[in-house]
Amino acid sequence: MFVKTGGVSKIAKKTVRDLDVAGKRVLVRVDFNVPLDKNGQVADDTRIRAAIPTINYLIEKNAKVILISHLGRPKGKVDEKYRMDPVAGRLSELLGLPVAKVDDCVGEAPQSAVERMQGGGVVLLENVRFHPEEEKNDEKFARRLAELADIFVNDAFGTAHRAHASTEGVAEFLPAVAGFLMENELAMLGKLLAEPERPFAAVMGGAKVSDKIAVISNLLNKVDVLIIGGGMSNTFLKAQGYDTGKSLLEADKVDLAKNLIGEAKSKGVNILLPVDVVVALAAAPDSEQKTVPVDRIPADWMALDIGPESAGHFAGALRTAKTVVWNGPMGVFEMEPFAKGTEALAHALAEIDATTVIGGGDSVAAVKKAGVVEKMTHISTGGGASLEFLEGKQLPGVVALLDK
Ligand code: ADP
Ligand code: MG
Repeated sequence: MFVKTGGVSKIAKKTVRDLDVAGKRVLVRVDFNVPLDKNGQVADDTRIRAAIPTINYLIEKNAKVILISHLGRPKGKVDEKYRMDPVAGRLSELLGLPVAKVDDCVGEAPQSAVERMQGGGVVLLENVRFHPEEEKNDEKFARRLAELADIFVNDAFGTAHRAHASTEGVAEFLPAVAGFLMENELAMLGKLLAEPERPFAAVMGGAKVSDKIAVISNLLNKVDVLIIGGGMSNTFLKAQGYDTGKSLLEADKVDLAKNLIGEAKSKGVNILLPVDVVVALAAAPDSEQKTVPVDRIPADWMALDIGPESAGHFAGALRTAKTVVWNGPMGVFEMEPFAKGTEALAHALAEIDATTVIGGGDSVAAVKKAGVVEKMTHISTGGGASLEFLEGKQLPGVVALLDK
């Protein structure tokens, strides 16, 4: 399962290319958990588009393509607002082919729909999380899913960190391989951990240290440079003895931050923290604000963004990097006055000649907002899954696939 490459592990899983799919019934787990607008229509079809290469490949090979996904959190019950019909509609438009939506994902409805399928046809099964057995990874339920098909393809990287019936369980009962989106995620994220071109820099930000401790700890063994910004940097600044005023702070993580700084130093990792911050009286766009050095954060103010000098330092440290992974915004980027640090970082990444990988829902949103998506090497589709991957964890949905 793990191929050793110079002492580090690289994941090698079979893909849809490794099996003969012609005329076969192929169950494809996709991540069609798309945002819906107030009319229940697909508000952003990025995730649907991301699965198209695998679907088109299977259509070209004359397979019977049976798609399955979750949508929202229906909590194991039928919930009208989370039916897959709008997704089937959008997919049909994107493929230029009819996509039949089947009203359940196990039992009579999908069985007869699949029996009627021709090679090259596509159906989308109903939301798998309408059944409580899905998240429980119930074996019988997984078996019923498996009965619909000859081959299982997992292309849902975004849910690969969950051991559910449609991600992990079903793979026990069918030859199970990766789709192209999954393959690409594993290759890009796998390369970061196994054989990054150096210098390798990680930029960590976002609200809380506690969300990302395990990622930071794992990356400390891999990177040459560690940049910390955003809300989590306050806890590191506190660990260095600065007063952080009313900033978001995890008081119970100050010692841990101290240890991580010590560990970085002992491993020869160049760790960079903000030197100036944008502070405001409240986390509101119209609040009074100013930029101060980190040793002068006023008691009643809160740091909501990195300052321009920090942004300059960070960009400078990234200029020579050959690999960069970025997770977590540098400030409260949802509010215009506190978005400058995050924007500056997005532009710094866009300008360098390096492999750049973006993980995390908010970081991806920030890169989109800055208009530099095209400049990045890889935008991970999986928030939680990419974080767990970067923690060095094995993802159950990946482990379950056939080894190369
Ligand atoms: P990602 O989704 O990329 O993993 P996170 O979810 O960890 O990122 O963090 C994003 C959130 O962190 C955003 O909502 C942002 O407003 C918040 N944040 C960033 N900097 C600060 C700060 N200085 N104070 C409070 N919140 C912050
Ligand atoms: Mg987030």
